[in-house]
Amino acid sequence: MKFIDEYRDAQAVQRYSRALKRIVKKSWTIMEICGGQTHSIVKYGLDELLPSGVTLVHGPGCPVCVTPLELIEKAIEIASTPNVMFCSFGDMLRVPGNSKDLLTVKAEGGDVRIVYSPLDALKLAVDNPQREVVFFAVGFETTAPANAMAVFQAKHQGVHNFSILVSHVLVPPAMEAILSAPENRVQGFLAAGHVCAIMGYTEYEPIAQKYGVPIVVTGFEPLDIIQGIYMCVRQLETGRAEVENQYSRSVRREGNLPAQKLIREIFCVVPRKWRGVGEIPQSGLGLQEAYTDFDAEKRFGVAELRADEPAECISGLILQGIRKPHECSAFGGRCTPEHPLGATMVSSEGACAAYYHYRRRTN
Ligand code: SF4
Repeated sequence: MKFIDEYRDAQAVQRYSRALKRIVKKSWTIMEICGGQTHSIVKYGLDELLPSGVTLVHGPGCPVCVTPLELIEKAIEIASTPNVMFCSFGDMLRVPGNSKDLLTVKAEGGDVRIVYSPLDALKLAVDNPQREVVFFAVGFETTAPANAMAVFQAKHQGVHNFSILVSHVLVPPAMEAILSAPENRVQGFLAAGHVCAIMGYTEYEPIAQKYGVPIVVTGFEPLDIIQGIYMCVRQLETGRAEVENQYSRSVRREGNLPAQKLIREIFCVVPRKWRGVGEIPQSGLGLQEAYTDFDAEKRFGVAELRADEPAECISGLILQGIRKPHECSAFGGRCTPEHPLGATMVSSEGACAAYYHYRRRTN
């Protein structure tokens, strides 16, 4: 399949693996930002092809994983309200709240629906004017344009029974939070190619400069990832800290300008809580003043709802690259994909689920 097979070429991956072994002189720790990249790394065993001096740690770029328990509880509260049609991407339905998940709300009679786009939810609102339709708008910069478009269209079409529960997060502030933490061990990043397809990578340039870390915009196939690692290590070994673009087939430096304009029209930058990490300043998107009528938190009075993360789950440390899944005492025992304790075991992009599915590893 064009644009897939050539990026899964095992011999080309092996060539990069050998080239890496030739250039590595010191020990380096690199974080891949995106859960999709984590999934590829573990699925294809890319970390096992690296020289012993190169360690990969897994970053916070899984939208389901970083959505705080508090937002899950708000979603459950709204979805349990009579006359509400609650729409979400499928993998949010099994993320555990304090006592249940959205799938349980559905089993108990709530109208919880899986949709593939916020525009599908908007159409449900148009087709069902007597119902309140809410879309669970989670994700990074990647999903923000589609959510922004749904709100824009709702306003301009006068669809008043539509709202979104917003939990958008932004990558650059999370990178800065990781790099500023006293226990940080990340020395280079593989940035998420799809996020940069929207936002470009100019935001990363001051981060690379300020913290002295190379950042390589990287795709998601095995060859993308090992090439991204090679480019990152090459910079580290030669003392450079620049932003490079491995994913040039999809990413331009300035990104998608019309999509960015639409995001700015609908959303503004706000502080945002990240699961297990806590609040990071200026790390999320909330609705602009002109669009707050579409804010489900306000419409359903759940803005003040608070919930504490379960103490046993160390997903926050995993998302910051401080621990790995098998270092959690619940991994594979009390916490499995069938009975997840935390979001990193629920989501298909979560590091705990990837380790569980592909290797149940102990090292
Ligand atoms: S194994 Fe389960 S409890 Fe442990 S960090 Fe992962 S999701 Fe949390």
